[in-house]
Amino acid sequence: MRLLPLRPDEKLPLTNDGHLWCFFIGTGSMFALKYFQTNFLVVKGQDHLLVDFGMTGPMALSSTARRQAVDIRAVLVTHAHEDHAGGVGYLALANRYIGIPFMKAPKTKLVVAPPFEPLFWEHTLRGSLGWNEGDPSGGRNLSLPDYFDVLHPAPLEGRERETWSVDVGSIHVELFRTRHIPEEAATWKDAWYSYGLCVDGRLFFSGDSQFDQGLVDDYEARGVQHYFHDVQFFPGAVHAPLADLRTLPDSVKQRMWLMHYSDNVDSQDPSGFAGWAQQGVIYDFDA
Ligand SMILES: [Zn+2]
Repeated sequence: MRLLPLRPDEKLPLTNDGHLWCFFIGTGSMFALKYFQTNFLVVKGQDHLLVDFGMTGPMALSSTARRQAVDIRAVLVTHAHEDHAGGVGYLALANRYIGIPFMKAPKTKLVVAPPFEPLFWEHTLRGSLGWNEGDPSGGRNLSLPDYFDVLHPAPLEGRERETWSVDVGSIHVELFRTRHIPEEAATWKDAWYSYGLCVDGRLFFSGDSQFDQGLVDDYEARGVQHYFHDVQFFPGAVHAPLADLRTLPDSVKQRMWLMHYSDNVDSQDPSGFAGWAQQGVIYDFDA
């Protein structure tokens, strides 16, 4: 594994020679002001996938990857919080007004689990995207497939928790439910829709999740090589406290980067872990 910084004038390549890459356009929490919100790209061969696009997403994409929203051809949203989904309306409208002719193929792919799709459209996107102001006959209602080529993962049977599987070109993704909100949720079953993901069976991204030892144990048994876990620096609440993550085995922590951190990250101690995830750097897992 190697970290490859971009040159100051370099655009993030959205293709490569088949290496599995991860690139964070941001690594901060929802409320971070020194870091963009935790959103990232997976790049492999001819394929790429943007995972989450929050309120800071458009600026972050331009600032760290030197890319525009219309460059993105596939996106996945882990849940509806603004730091993960707040830029998706921008993405859709940039495609409508700046990108390829509206409603013409190929549309940007949107990966969304079937149970989450109607919630995501009705509660997050429809207020901005539902009205067709370009229709001279007085407008008609638009829907998610007008903007995106909607890609539904298939259910994976026999898992301990709700899990979905999808291929975005050569990039294989498993989506698993996480225990994020509310704080009182005892298990993922009691929690609102929120997903983490496993890429190519090699990379684990917690998405937003409270500390969930069973989830890490499950993917460790499945042979995950590298972990990216959200973190908070206090107990309780809806992310994984650093103190709880410290209880994981050393062999796991050494392969775990911590993401979704707040602005006071520099006063925290990441010893024992791979470190803080860095924005603006290519993680090449095949170098
Ligand atoms: Zn969240």
